[in-house]
Amino acid sequence: MGNTTLQAVRGMNDILPDEAQLWLWFEDAVRDWLEAYGYRNIRMPLVEPTALFKRAIGEVTDIVEKEMYSFEDSLNGDQLTLRPEGTASCARAVLQHSLLYNAPQRLYYSGAMFRHERPQKGRYRQFHQIGVEALGFAGPDIDAEQILMCSRLWKKLGIRDAELQINTLGDAASRHRHREKLIAYFEHHKNVLDADAQRRLYSNPLRILDTKNPAMQELVSAAPKLMDELEEDALKHFEEVQAILHQHGIVFEINTHLVRGLDYYNRTVFEWVTTRLGAQGTICAGGRYDGLIEQIGGKPAPACGFAMGIERLLALLQEDGMQNLRAPLDVYLVHQGEQANRLAGGVAEQLRDAGLKVVLHCGGGSFKSQMKKADASGAACAVIIGDDEARAGQATLKALRDGGGQQRVALAELQQKIREFNLVRG
Ligand code: ATP
Ligand code: MG
Repeated sequence: MGNTTLQAVRGMNDILPDEAQLWLWFEDAVRDWLEAYGYRNIRMPLVEPTALFKRAIGEVTDIVEKEMYSFEDSLNGDQLTLRPEGTASCARAVLQHSLLYNAPQRLYYSGAMFRHERPQKGRYRQFHQIGVEALGFAGPDIDAEQILMCSRLWKKLGIRDAELQINTLGDAASRHRHREKLIAYFEHHKNVLDADAQRRLYSNPLRILDTKNPAMQELVSAAPKLMDELEEDALKHFEEVQAILHQHGIVFEINTHLVRGLDYYNRTVFEWVTTRLGAQGTICAGGRYDGLIEQIGGKPAPACGFAMGIERLLALLQEDGMQNLRAPLDVYLVHQGEQANRLAGGVAEQLRDAGLKVVLHCGGGSFKSQMKKADASGAACAVIIGDDEARAGQATLKALRDGGGQQRVALAELQQKIREFNLVRG
């Protein structure tokens, strides 16, 4: 056995404390926002039967064809997959626990997703999403509400450059007609198709429209449009979504090539995109998926949802100058001398009882070195107890920023003085 240092799996990141604080701040903001719309939290396992994703996402998709971490449970032979997204799991849970029996559901989840992609900025193998799903709703009002929600979140986070693209994928009949026309069109231009497109020509021609290959863009932009095939209901649904967006002053662009990378979508699909993250510019994506519940074995139930990439959103915030944060700390407790050391632990606990955030110096060392640690801790003040103070039932309270005045106070008044002191500091 060598002594090589072990590293994290490629594309799977540690989030270190300074940055994690920004995550916590973000998660709090997001939770308030979701609760403002009546969404409730749901938590699903990170591992699901592989069959769930094959059925829900579709066999001929990037995710199922080449991005899933699938493995056999060596103990019982089950085929399992680390979840690449949350919608399928959420729908599975809703179905399994009959949550749609009496009422529609507004649900959200947050957590790690796994896809075997080429790691680069904004694209990782373990990444994190906030997923938002409304199940049991058929009308255009919920589609529009979800888009409005996003717009409110961008405002709340100070993201000003997210652009909205929307499209409709229609219903089964129009998609079938469109598919026939697409196949005929692409067959006619077979020489321009890349290997992926050739492979998908008959299995999933719609997905060819989603290609990122620059050499195929011209071909794809001239392809037959689903919009020309839409059935009346689907068209009306799409128009109502747009009307509500207009009514709320939401600016959008209709992108007829927006098909989304997963098979379960129908009717409304949307993406929020920025130009600031290079090729990884989609920060949020979603749409309607009326067929999914039935596809995984339930009674048909309409639904609509979206997912946001947390890493991409945080990258935007950091680019906007939002610094990594530090959890606020009120007190660093410095102590030296036998009597003082005995006293310090109890004083720290009392301050915590009073609701203060306190780090008790551990590991001994000189006053000077302890004070250095106090300064570096980011605490608002140091509480210093030497044997002198201990004998007198007092502590020295020292401001660590803004000039750093200090005073001796009785231990009995310590927490009150700290509060006054923090108040004075603003
Ligand atoms: P892309 O086209 O960028 O691959 P996608 O269509 O595969 O995205 P979705 O499955 O719709 O992505 O996931 C929703 C959101 O999750 C994306 O808009 C993005 O913000 C984020 N996301 C997806 N894959 C990754 C990844 N590998 N690393 C980081 N974020 C990701
Ligand atoms: Mg992808």
